Amino acid sequence: MELKNRLLGGLLKANFLQSALPPVPAPYNRAIPASRHERKVPALAKKRMNAKEPRKPAKKLRILVIGAHPDDCEIKAGGVAALWSAKGHTVQLVSATNGATGHHAIGGVELVRRRTAEARAAARVLGCKSLILDLPNGEMEPSIAMRRVFLKLIREFQPDLILTHRPNDYHPDHRYTSQLVQDSAYIVTVPNNLPTVPALRYNPTIAYLSDGFQKPIPFQPDVAVGIDAVLDKKIDAIHRHTSQMYEWLPWNVQEEDKVPADEKGRRAWTYERRVKADAACAEANRELLKKLYGAKRGAQFQHAEAFELCEYGARPGPEQLRELFPFFD
Ligand SMILES: [Zn+2]
Repeated sequence: MELKNRLLGGLLKANFLQSALPPVPAPYNRAIPASRHERKVPALAKKRMNAKEPRKPAKKLRILVIGAHPDDCEIKAGGVAALWSAKGHTVQLVSATNGATGHHAIGGVELVRRRTAEARAAARVLGCKSLILDLPNGEMEPSIAMRRVFLKLIREFQPDLILTHRPNDYHPDHRYTSQLVQDSAYIVTVPNNLPTVPALRYNPTIAYLSDGFQKPIPFQPDVAVGIDAVLDKKIDAIHRHTSQMYEWLPWNVQEEDKVPADEKGRRAWTYERRVKADAACAEANRELLKKLYGAKRGAQFQHAEAFELCEYGARPGPEQLRELFPFFD
């Protein structure tokens, strides 16, 4: 009886508090039209929500690769992006920042225009879409305002899979881009956190791009993809980032005098520098490649990209992982 009274008292108190609260301000008090709730759920996500649904043989995946800067997506996932595109899936490469500061000689609007054009050209090589968010280069922060930009991006694109940086990384823009993606996981399904953009009815899968940082925990790959067949495309895409590959990055490590002047020499220079990481990735993930592709094919790849599942997105089982990365059969 005493417990019942206590519960009743709590209820009355809660009701009193509710009636004493000020009215909810606009735009959060606006009713969301029913049609927005009833938006079409992508086939794979629907399947994830209802495991009993029969397997659909043909489906088009939607993949969002979110890097902090123009060139991050191409460097870390250019190969797998080209493979998805070649199979008819939709891949959008996103640079969270506008690239306005990463240069020693130019900046601002002039640099943003160059970086935007370079990112578009690189995405075209890979058969992907390109998007540069107008967030300030070097000033990313895990704020509510920036989270809303990410929520809008993810809700409108309706991805099956999102790739992004890990949360511990040398560059603050990488760190906070990762944080913002993590903070958007689940919240993309909560309508009132951004009432102006229809919420997703599912939580997308999120996977991290690879890196070599050891603290607090090293990269632990769940998927490795052989990219030998598209390696040239990947290098061609990175080569399109002229202001980064042949101006800013060499200047930043005091190698600007080593940059070849001609196009062919530059492309070869980029190949030599970039291919090492993909070769090391294949070696480091040899057992995983064999597990996914079978012993024979897995042993043959010379170049690979690897990805680690994030705990906050939907966690695919082995079969769903093969649907998201349809390269192993
Ligand atoms: Zn970057």
